[in-house]
Amino acid sequence: PYDVLVIGGGPAGAAAAIYAARKGIRTGLIAERFGGQVMDTVGIENFISVPYTEGPKLAASLEQHVKEYGVDIITEQRAVNVQRNEMVDIQLQSGATLSSRSVVLATGARWRELGVPGEAEYRTKGVAYCPHCDGPFFKGKRVAVIGGGNSGIEAAIDLAGIVEHVTVLEFADTLRADDVLVRKAKLMGNIDIIVNAQTTEVLGDGNKVNGLAYTDRETGEDKKLDLAGIFVQIGLVPNTEFLKETHLEMNRMGEIVIDARGATSLPGVYAAGDATTVPYKQIVISMGAGATAALGAFDYLIRSSVE
Ligand code: FAD
Repeated sequence: PYDVLVIGGGPAGAAAAIYAARKGIRTGLIAERFGGQVMDTVGIENFISVPYTEGPKLAASLEQHVKEYGVDIITEQRAVNVQRNEMVDIQLQSGATLSSRSVVLATGARWRELGVPGEAEYRTKGVAYCPHCDGPFFKGKRVAVIGGGNSGIEAAIDLAGIVEHVTVLEFADTLRADDVLVRKAKLMGNIDIIVNAQTTEVLGDGNKVNGLAYTDRETGEDKKLDLAGIFVQIGLVPNTEFLKETHLEMNRMGEIVIDARGATSLPGVYAAGDATTVPYKQIVISMGAGATAALGAFDYLIRSSVE
């Protein structure tokens, strides 16, 4: 068995694996895709001490750093269940089960979907979730951003520099984004903001998106917009569905509840990063949390083992 098995190979998982391995204990890391969300990111300008880097480059450095420590890296494997028995048993989709004296759950998060007709059909055919990745495809075209939180307004500002026009649709009657972002968006000149708008359908010609339908929640009127692209920016969903039988405390949003040491409600089970209740979802924050969780797990191990 492992001493620490990390589930997830994003910034949180990589940091946890390095911190655990540096204690000289048997460390493994399972990840569906090494790098996590970082692989979907283009420019990164807030990774402290590195003024500018790019996602795939940072992900490669993370992997290289983890590999320097003799961590057992198992990629392209998905954990489907975690059970606290005598040890912590991690069941993989392949059917294999791994055992560890402690685990660090660092499975991150993914963009929330709208769940309206047409969304799935037109994904990658005009429906996008990552403005950094897909923005340039809509150069000179009209797009919508759904969601008026910080990520939606940031996306609108970002896209407005590339595309012809951006319409932001917010479900509530006010934007939730910071004032400074809203002011910036209004200064761009090619961003319209519509509040009280409930998106009801992604419209297309069979091959690609050509518009969207929404209901004006104030008047009840159904409206349409002609567009080439729709960026969905309505939040992040933690990748914690595989823990539904783990009997672990999670909040309403499915985020794993952790304490200041990264401990969850189950002994020996630690968690870090975007999958947890940590308030801000960022690379440096996930890395710090990964380090904390590994140290927490190490503390647990030295207290629980007198064999
Ligand atoms: P993730 O990066 O989500 O990694 C999760 C890992 O878990 C992956 O390896 C995944 O394959 C694995 N996994 C998930 N489920 C399972 C399972 N069941 N079994 C096995 N493995 C599993 N942050 C910044 O600080 N600066 C930025 O500029 C920035 N830009 C961003 C741009 C985009 C487009 C996105 C999507 C995010 C951006 N972020 C940015 C946020 C940042 O990427 C995340 O906060 C960070 O990656 C979270 O790290 P994590 O390790 O918690 O999770």
